[in-house]
Amino acid sequence: MSNTIPKIVVVGGGAGGLELVTKLGKKLGKKGKAEVILVDSTHTHIWKPLLHEVAAGTLDSHEDEIEYLGQANVSGFRFRLGRMEGLDRDKKQIIVAPTLTPDGVEVIPRRRFDYDYLVISVGSISHDFGIKGVKDNCLFLDTTKQAEVFQNKLMQAYLQAHTQGKPLDEGQLNIAIVGAGATGIELSAQLHEVSHLLSAYGLDEVKPQDVKISIIEAANRVLPGLPENLSAATTNELVKLGVEVHTGERVVEVTERAIMTESGKTIPAAIKVWAAGIKGPEFLKDIAGLETNWMNQLVVKSTLQTTLDDDIYAIGDCCACKWQGHDENIPPRAQAAHQMASLAFKSIKNRMAGKEAPEFEYHDYGSLVSLGKYSTVGNLMGNLSKGSMMIEGFLARLMYLSLYKMHQTALFGPFRVVMLSLSHIFRRSVHPKIKLH
Ligand SMILES: Cc1cc2nc3c(=O)[nH]c(=O)nc-3n(C[C@H](O)[C@H](O)[C@H](O)COP(=O)(O)OP(=O)(O)OC[C@H]3O[C@@H](n4cnc5c(N)ncnc54)[C@H](O)[C@@H]3O)c2cc1C
Repeated sequence: MSNTIPKIVVVGGGAGGLELVTKLGKKLGKKGKAEVILVDSTHTHIWKPLLHEVAAGTLDSHEDEIEYLGQANVSGFRFRLGRMEGLDRDKKQIIVAPTLTPDGVEVIPRRRFDYDYLVISVGSISHDFGIKGVKDNCLFLDTTKQAEVFQNKLMQAYLQAHTQGKPLDEGQLNIAIVGAGATGIELSAQLHEVSHLLSAYGLDEVKPQDVKISIIEAANRVLPGLPENLSAATTNELVKLGVEVHTGERVVEVTERAIMTESGKTIPAAIKVWAAGIKGPEFLKDIAGLETNWMNQLVVKSTLQTTLDDDIYAIGDCCACKWQGHDENIPPRAQAAHQMASLAFKSIKNRMAGKEAPEFEYHDYGSLVSLGKYSTVGNLMGNLSKGSMMIEGFLARLMYLSLYKMHQTALFGPFRVVMLSLSHIFRRSVHPKIKLH
């Protein structure tokens, strides 16, 4: 390390990275104890678990997004726009790709940033498992832009159906979601709500029942990663909403018009969404000789340091960290990214003071799945419930909302979160419940 203050670079300002860099900036950057830099490929942050609401149009992404430059200014870190594409471990530099305008004009050239400590928190992307036709015919919900593309496509389909002056073609407004994890389930409930709202807002040539929503899942139940009672309760709710649930169906091909499964089913759909698994971004695969797994995740020790380089940490969805006492790794969830951000902060601070890097212990507080305005189901784990306890309805909804509030509190502090929540309530009272363009 040089004589000057240490340089801490965090790549990826998502659920984990933005919390980490905010804390580092406030505790070290502002006091001149370290230079803290955030690198992200976009200008703004939106908490990823909200993306299905952006896709459905029940949340306007511009309402909840955070400008990185603004957050940097109040929190004591610097923001640098760009997409990391490589790593030079000998020189301790990250390599950031040139930033181009949509028509290909270079705005910022390829750059390198020095680091003493590097934290990679670039999240995940959808995994299509190489299945034929997925890449070309499905929509994904990995980024805000993709969620907005989905919302545009949905509105266009509705407007066309509303104005075409003839009965709908078969499957014209069918929406098929592949993957019955939390993302797929939450999206299906939001889309059901939207089909009623759009009709109420005047697109009444389309009846809610004209929109057929299907979920296709390879496992034999929805929410396969969660307890069975939660799956059963969720299936009941979905059936009540009229969502078609196809479990035990492995998708083998997706065409422009339909989804085909191994058992021979053909599910016609105009709009198809892929939410069936994740992997780390491609550039991470074997990056600079670091250890990565089959999902492109960086393998980390229990300290969240990468196995082959103590100065490089990985947190959140892009890391593979053994879950103590379990056969599997820590699951890719917002609560894991949140907890990992806290540990990475402690670890860097300790090491700057010449102390040991602490070990990460993941606390699973349970999972909550929001079925929009209809219901929320979930299970609570740990001290609060002495084991696992299923919760439903208002209490579950409150717990679900508190996850996002925790993230906001880490970024803005409790007072501003109360103010934000109040302003959100007032905004909602004057704006439509759904984005209508
Ligand atoms: C629709 C949806 C619903 C979800 N619901 C829930 C839920 O209810 N509960 C839950 O616990 N989890 C949920 N998740 C999962 C949760 O969102 C993730 O586990 C969490 O966001 C991971 O945080 P992260 O910090 O690792 O990555 P992210 O939050 O994804 O952030 C990654 C950041 O890295 C940036 N980035 C990516 N590549 C580069 C690069 N090459 N260079 C620079 N920057 C880069 C991105 O722009 C982004 O800002 C949901 C996910 C989705 C998609």
